[in-house]
Amino acid sequence: MIWGGIEAGGTKFVCAVATEDGRIVERAQFPTGSPVPTVAEAVDFFRAASAKRDELAGIGIASFGPVDLAAGRITSTPKAGWRNFGIAEAVREQLGVKVFFDTDVNAAALAEGRWGAARGVDTFVYLTVGTGIGGGAVAGGRLIHGFHHPEMGHIRVPHDGSFAGICPYHGDCLEGLACGKALEQRCGCRAEDLPCDRPEWREEARLLAHGLVNCICILSPELIVMGGGVMKQAALFPAIRAHVADLLKGYVPIPEIVPPALGDDAGVLGAVALCLGQ
Ligand code: ZN
Repeated sequence: MIWGGIEAGGTKFVCAVATEDGRIVERAQFPTGSPVPTVAEAVDFFRAASAKRDELAGIGIASFGPVDLAAGRITSTPKAGWRNFGIAEAVREQLGVKVFFDTDVNAAALAEGRWGAARGVDTFVYLTVGTGIGGGAVAGGRLIHGFHHPEMGHIRVPHDGSFAGICPYHGDCLEGLACGKALEQRCGCRAEDLPCDRPEWREEARLLAHGLVNCICILSPELIVMGGGVMKQAALFPAIRAHVADLLKGYVPIPEIVPPALGDDAGVLGAVALCLGQ
């Protein structure tokens, strides 16, 4: 039996077909254009993959957000054309398969729990720090959805006000201060070109540590998995761990803070994991 996954990102779409044990057998990636042609490209990929391999048992969509989970649509995005677009229904209509839908970070958390760094862990957080910042949490073995879904990137953290932040909704929320684009604005170059000894990395670690401490105090996770493009700077991990320890001051145990075991596949495998349940 094979399953499809779409990691629907604001910058790119990653589509994959995988087996039940999380092995990707077909994969495609293309830039996110306007909704109709982008979904058409994904549909073409799944039709071709299905003709070559097997009938798809279902497709999971791990979407950028915010989303309306019940309606299967993206809601208040500033991304042109995608606001209120019913992506789940569009895929279901065109492919005639069962479609599962959740946020990209909830899905990635599921994948890390099923096949990756959080296997066997009861309560953990998956946080991505890339173009944006977002988090998914599993508590007592179940994904937390709440009323809609958590938006861990948009919490507030203390800062000195020297950088106004770039979140189009809040300005200086965690994402506005510490996402990849914010880091690039602060340092004037691409994050991957920024040497690891530059002070901007220290501030990045401090901001992210404040975000994690909020998550730790509210959710009490055993483990925090941190992925996304910015976290490819491996020096961030020890710096964040040290800041977290400093902020918590021994009040509660510090969870392990680790990179995703599934690397860049966490998102698309998360989409597949949505089909398989919890
Ligand atoms: Zn925000």
